[in-house]
Amino acid sequence: MIQFNFFSLGTAFVILQLLPGVVGWGKEGHYAVCKIAEGLLTEDAAAAVKNLLPEIAKGELAAVCSWPDEIRGLYRWSAELHFIDTPDFLCNYEYCRDCHDSGGNKDRCVVGGINNYTMQLHKFQGSASEWKYNLTEALMFLSHFIGDIHQPLHAGFLGDLGGNTIPIHWFGMRTNLHRVWDNMIIETAMKNFYSSDLAIMIEAVNKKITDTWSEDISSWENCTSINTVCPDPFASESIDLACKYAYPGATPNSTLSDEYFLSRLPIVEKRLAQGGVRLASTLNRIFKTEMLISEA
Ligand SMILES: [Zn+2]
Repeated sequence: MIQFNFFSLGTAFVILQLLPGVVGWGKEGHYAVCKIAEGLLTEDAAAAVKNLLPEIAKGELAAVCSWPDEIRGLYRWSAELHFIDTPDFLCNYEYCRDCHDSGGNKDRCVVGGINNYTMQLHKFQGSASEWKYNLTEALMFLSHFIGDIHQPLHAGFLGDLGGNTIPIHWFGMRTNLHRVWDNMIIETAMKNFYSSDLAIMIEAVNKKITDTWSEDISSWENCTSINTVCPDPFASESIDLACKYAYPGATPNSTLSDEYFLSRLPIVEKRLAQGGVRLASTLNRIFKTEMLISEA
C-alpha cells in the first residue's frame, strides 16, 4: 500500500493554533461529520479512538477534527492533501490522472491521504512505544480528510482551484464559491433553521440518517477493497455534485441568495451525513481488523 515518508514526522504533537485561510469544510462541517461518526462507532472502535485522542480532545473526536486545518502552516507538506483537483469541465475523477500535487508527485491528494492514514492506523496494536507512526495524528488526519472529500468543491476544477478563485456575493457578503460550500451554506442554515446551534443541526441530520436515508446507508458504507477504505467513489460523487449543483449559477461576481441556498442545502446535509457514516464504517473496519489480527 502507499506509504509516504514525509508523513511521519515523529511523535511530537503540535500545539493547536489557529491560522487564517482555513480550507475544507469549515469548523462546523468537520465537527458535524465527526460527531455523526462518533454516534455510529462500534464499542471496539470507540475504545480505540478514545485511546488515540490527544488530551485536548477530552474524549471527543469531533473536538479535534479541524486540527489538520489549524496546523497547515506548520505542516506545509500536508496542504495539498486536503483536496483533489480535476480537469476543467470534465466532471469526472481518475486516481492515476488526478491524484498528485502541483509538483506532479503521485498519491499526494486527499484520496492518497485517506489511503495513507488508513494504512498507518492498521498498525494499531501492541504498545504505543512500538508504533512506527504517530497514530494520534493519523486518526485526526483521516477523520478530517474523509470530511473534506465529501465537500463537492474539494474535487473541483483545477482552473478555479475548486471555486476558490470565483468571487461571489453571498446574500451581499463578499466571499468565494469554495467558502460558500465550506462555511456559508452551513452557517446560513444554522442561523435560519437551527437557532444558530450546531447541535440542533447535527440532530436534524442524524434524524434523516435513521429516517429519510436509512435504506441508503449500506450502499454508502459499501467497500469491497481489501484496504478497508474506498475513497475513490467519494471523489467521483463530489465532482459530479460540483458540476450539477456547485458551479451552475455561480458565475464570477454573481450574487447567490435564497434560491441557491435552499436548493443546495439538502446536498450539503447529505454530504455531511455520508461523511459521518463513512468515517464511522472506516474506523469500525480498521479497529475490527486489528482485533482479529491481534487475536490470531
Ligand atoms: Zn481540510
